[in-house]
Amino acid sequence: MLPTPDPAPARAAGRAAPRISFVSLGCPKALVDSERIITRLRAEGYEITRKHDGADAVVVNTCGFLDSAKAESLAAIGDAMAENGKVIVTGCMGAEPDAIRERYPNVLAVSGPQAYESVMAAVHEAAEPLHDPFLDLLPPQGIKLTPRHYSYLKIAEGCNNSCSFCIIPRLRGRLVSRPVSEVLREAEKLVTAGVKELLVVSQDTAAYGLDLGYPMQPHGDREVRAKFIDLARELGSLGAWTRLHYIYPYPHVDDVVPLMAEGLVLPYLDIPFQHAAPNVLRAMKRPGKQDRTLDRIAAWRGVAPDLVLRSTFIVGFPGETEEDFQILLDWLTEAKLERVGAFKYEPVAGAPAQALDLPAVPRELQQERLDRFMAHQQAISARLLAKKVGRRMPVIVDAVGPGGAVGRSKGDAPEIDGKVHLQHRFPVRVGDIVTARITGADAYDLHGTVV
Ligand code: SF4
Repeated sequence: MLPTPDPAPARAAGRAAPRISFVSLGCPKALVDSERIITRLRAEGYEITRKHDGADAVVVNTCGFLDSAKAESLAAIGDAMAENGKVIVTGCMGAEPDAIRERYPNVLAVSGPQAYESVMAAVHEAAEPLHDPFLDLLPPQGIKLTPRHYSYLKIAEGCNNSCSFCIIPRLRGRLVSRPVSEVLREAEKLVTAGVKELLVVSQDTAAYGLDLGYPMQPHGDREVRAKFIDLARELGSLGAWTRLHYIYPYPHVDDVVPLMAEGLVLPYLDIPFQHAAPNVLRAMKRPGKQDRTLDRIAAWRGVAPDLVLRSTFIVGFPGETEEDFQILLDWLTEAKLERVGAFKYEPVAGAPAQALDLPAVPRELQQERLDRFMAHQQAISARLLAKKVGRRMPVIVDAVGPGGAVGRSKGDAPEIDGKVHLQHRFPVRVGDIVTARITGADAYDLHGTVV
C-alpha cells in the first residue's frame, strides 16, 4: 500500500466528509492513475484515510501484470472486504472482472485501468459527496502520492508492441498519446509548484505521438510536434530534471542522446532489454540484434559520456538454454549497464508466451540463474560505481535525518535505483539539489560529502 496524503480536516459544520480508504498497487503508471482518482476524490470533498475500518468505502487500484501481482491484488481486496466490506476495484486486474467476482462476489464495482469515471460513479453510489465550494481550493498540480520534489508524468497509455510475455496491450489497449499541450501544461504546473524532477512514464515512452501521426499541436502561442524527441526537448527546457522511463529501443531513441549531452534531459535511459540471446529474444518477440545494440550503446556513450543505462531482464524464459543464459551474462559484461533488475519468468494467463511450444525452465534452475545473474551484475555495478569515487556531482536530496541526508545522482531514479548517502556540515532540505564529492562506493550506493 502506498502512503496516502494526510486526511483533509473534517468539515466544521454539517455532515462529516465521507471517508475513502485507498490502496494503490502496481507500477508508476498505476500510481499516476491513483493520483488522478485521489485528486478527484479530494476535489469533491472526500477524505482520504489510511484505515479501511470506519471508511465509507475502499478503492483498491490493482495490478494484473504477473500472477504474483494478481495474487497480491486479490489479497488486498480480501483484506478490504474483511475490514470494511464496501470495496471498489479498479486498475489492471479490473480488466478481468470474472476472476475478482469469483472470489469476492460482493465487491461494489469492478473497472479496468484509467476508468476514472466508473470509479467516481461507484464512490458516489457508496458515499454521496459533500457539496462544499471551499473544497475546490485544491493545489493546481492536484494531489500527489510521490514526495513534493519529484513527480511522475504520464504521457501516453497502451502499447502497440506484442512482446510475448506481456498482457499490457490486452489490458490497456493500443497506444493513445495525450495531446502535447496537455502534457506540457501539467509539467509546467508541477514545476511551478516546486517539483524538481519529472519522471516521464508510459508503457512505451519513445512511441509517443505515433498514434497521432506526429502532428504539430498548438501550445500557447506556438506549435510543438507531438513526438518523443520534441516532447523531451520541451520538458527538458522547463528547468527541472527530466528522466525518461520505459524506452523501447527503437532506432530514433539515438536522437534523444544529444539532448542528454546538452544537459536538457538527464543522461539516463531506462530501456528494458529483457534478454540478449537471439533465440530468447525471438521467442519474446523483442528486437533480436543485441550485438548491434552493443554498438549503439558505445555510440551513445561517445555522445553522452555520463549516460547511465538502466534495464530489466527476464531469466528462465521458456526454451532458455544454458548457452542462451551464458550469452546474456557475456552481453552484460560487454554492455556494462549501470543499473539492472531481473525477474524470473512467470507465466501470465492470456500472454502469447503461454502458447509457445517451448520447454519451461524448472523453478529451481530459474532461481539458480537469477542468483548467478545478480552476482554477475553486482560485480559490474560495484566496479562502475567505484570509478565515481573522487568525482563531484549534483545530488537531489530525498530525505534528511540525524545521521545525514540521502539523495540520488542524475543516474538514480527514485525507488528503483541506488542512493547517495550524504554527510553535510550545513543544513540541507528535502528537494535541494546539492553538489557532493563522492568519497566511497559499494555495490549499489554511493557515499559523499556535500561541498
Ligand atoms: S513494449 Fe512493454 S508494454 Fe509493450 S508489449 Fe512489450 S513489454 Fe508489454
